[in-house]
Amino acid sequence: MGRTGILQGKKDDLVKDLKETSLSFEKLGKKYEVSRQAIYDFCKRQGIERPKRPRGHQTGECRLCQKLIQISKKPRSEFISIHTIPKETGESWAKCYNHLRTLRDKGLVSQRFGRLRSKKIEKAYAIYFTKRLPIRTIGRKVGIKNFQSLIRQHRRSGWNVPPSLYVYDGREKRRVLSEVQRRKHA
Ligand SMILES: [Zn+2]
Repeated sequence: MGRTGILQGKKDDLVKDLKETSLSFEKLGKKYEVSRQAIYDFCKRQGIERPKRPRGHQTGECRLCQKLIQISKKPRSEFISIHTIPKETGESWAKCYNHLRTLRDKGLVSQRFGRLRSKKIEKAYAIYFTKRLPIRTIGRKVGIKNFQSLIRQHRRSGWNVPPSLYVYDGREKRRVLSEVQRRKHA
């Protein structure tokens, strides 16, 4: 182990390191060629308060994580796109994504939250949930050709897409069915 005495000429440097860095006593000991204990004792004697070490990421204390959890608890949060999430948190998507990954790993948000990339699809769903319109009309409104098949895909991957508010009458039903048939044979 190193010496217990800190060299006279080095004391000012050490005081500075103790006050301004979060280097451990161990590391400072190596730097000043004394024991860890000697650094600790010196620090105590001088009454130096060490700066707090940057803490590991604590989702419980992270404002952004808490905000993301809050958004994810909204009904149908999987239909909120990655363009809207940053707007609601006030942080960039890159930053949100980092925190979101941790939250997903910990199971604190749904795996499906933060997966929707398209603003258009988000818009289409917003209409789908609230307006009594044929799916094709919604698709046309927002500029998506295959909204119906997107809905099917999303359902297959476990998204909870409720039935359309639009009640297809006999004619419309037949039209949709014949279109489905046509596609099958295409
Ligand atoms: Zn966080």
